[in-house]
Amino acid sequence: MSGETILIIEDNEINLRLEKAVLKNQGYNLLTALDAEQALLILKNNKPHLILMDLQLPGINGLQLTKILKENHQTKNIPIIALTAYAMKGDKELAEAAGCNGYISKPIDTRQFPKDISNFLLQLSETTLK
Ligand SMILES: [Mg+2]
Repeated sequence: MSGETILIIEDNEINLRLEKAVLKNQGYNLLTALDAEQALLILKNNKPHLILMDLQLPGINGLQLTKILKENHQTKNIPIIALTAYAMKGDKELAEAAGCNGYISKPIDTRQFPKDISNFLLQLSETTLK
């Protein structure tokens, strides 16, 4: 398990702190960005194994940023899991349409969250091996 690098893009510092703490505990290497601009700068020099994308970001929102990343050949293969606070019907579909590879609703369940992430990374590595 673990050792993978995960980029968390989250503007709410309380959520970010919680997500970081839970994932750091699992041994992941973490990169963090508070908005799309910071994320794009980080992605110029880093290629994380996974991106956790808050959909509700100030400025360029998570759906828009996902589209930007999926249209760029340097970032299009990085899997993205959408995180959204709104239990809004249709959010999951919007996330998928934008190119997100998975979806987790907030507030995160601190027990389930790391399981979801490790299952996702496991699925990815199995897909890559095929
Ligand atoms: Mg937000």
